[in-house]
Amino acid sequence: MTHTPVRSDFDQYMVPNYSPQQVIPVRGEGSRLWDQQGKEYIDFAGGIAVNGLGHCHPVLVNALKEQADKLWHLSNVYTNEPALNLARTLVEHSFADKVYMCNSGGEANEAALKLARRWAYDQHGENKDRIISFRQSFHGRTFFTVSVGGQPKYSQGFGPVPGGIVHAEFNNLDSVRELIDANTCAVMVEPMQGEGGLIPATPEFLEGLRELCDANDALLIFDEVQTGVGRTGALYAYMQYGVTPDILTTAKALGGGFPVGAMLTTDRIAPAMGIGTHGSTYGGNALASAVALAAVEYIDTPEVLEGVARRHELFREQLEIINRKHGVFKEVRGMGLLMGAQMSDEYQGRAKDILPLAIEEGVMALVAGPDVLRLAPSLVIPEADIVEGMARLDRAIARLVATQQTAEIATK
Ligand SMILES: *Cc1c(COP(=O)(O)O)cnc(C)c1O
Repeated sequence: MTHTPVRSDFDQYMVPNYSPQQVIPVRGEGSRLWDQQGKEYIDFAGGIAVNGLGHCHPVLVNALKEQADKLWHLSNVYTNEPALNLARTLVEHSFADKVYMCNSGGEANEAALKLARRWAYDQHGENKDRIISFRQSFHGRTFFTVSVGGQPKYSQGFGPVPGGIVHAEFNNLDSVRELIDANTCAVMVEPMQGEGGLIPATPEFLEGLRELCDANDALLIFDEVQTGVGRTGALYAYMQYGVTPDILTTAKALGGGFPVGAMLTTDRIAPAMGIGTHGSTYGGNALASAVALAAVEYIDTPEVLEGVARRHELFREQLEIINRKHGVFKEVRGMGLLMGAQMSDEYQGRAKDILPLAIEEGVMALVAGPDVLRLAPSLVIPEADIVEGMARLDRAIARLVATQQTAEIATK
């Protein structure tokens, strides 16, 4: 007899580091999902900015199936055609000359930080090891990346953190000027802070970081794990800012749902990652690379990228309409299809309360911290799904407002 998994199996069999919603989706198509009971949802969460082409996009399914019949994995004892094609495509479509492949955003950042340290060590000696990042930033869950990340709660309680890491204030160049010097090897920054609450960098900030890095011979690392691969309306957000990093990390939408990550850099820096300095058993896996190649080629077209800008306007309009009715948001912000709605003072800490209500109404959303509702839907979500999903979100927020009012009456 086969057992149909239920949500309580999670609590019984899984390490308790997550607290998933109660429903278990079993099938997806485009921007719609269905759960075990056949209830349908519109997906504005996109697997946390991963499913750039929605669920089971035919282009990705075909790439996966075709490669699945040919070759899955070799390890880096051999190279393979999909990895070489993906690397060439990423180089041809970006500032980069060289690519390192891995399996996640955290790994891409780990590689970027190790490369920066090693490059500085080779070029300047062991004193140039300082890494500057930003408060509220998020760079992954490996021990190095949580330490560089600007949310101490993720690195506390795990013993001594790696040294040589300092945090400045995002969008505040003076705070960087105070910390940067000849011993700085790298500045790591998200062009738009994602987990930190959907806060875009100002153009002057990124331009200023570029200048400060150049003046101190430090490397500028853009963490585009969340902003990359079309999410903001360009293949990478740095292109919209016109500020070019020395190292860029990408993952999330890169594989459209298949786990893959990559670190991009230039011929000036890449040699520091010589034979044996770093590696990954799965990195450049043939199956992952075939899917990522299909995703990048499909997304990096004017049709898809212009579509992102158009959909951004529609989402923004709809969020403003909801807000005029319910007054729950202080600000709607973000770039492309990575948008945040900051809860108004009255609803502080209540962003996450929207999620289960939204699920009951048939729409999936995300939060970024306690006060920001986050939307990261498919880049090709049909406009009809946006309108319908927003109508459902409107109903969920009406219910949040109703519970808030009931609570207020109760405390009077
Ligand atoms: C999600 C994210 C990461 C971590 O990626 P994983 O694939 O979960 O390791 C790193 N940086 C940013 C900006 C992210 O949004």
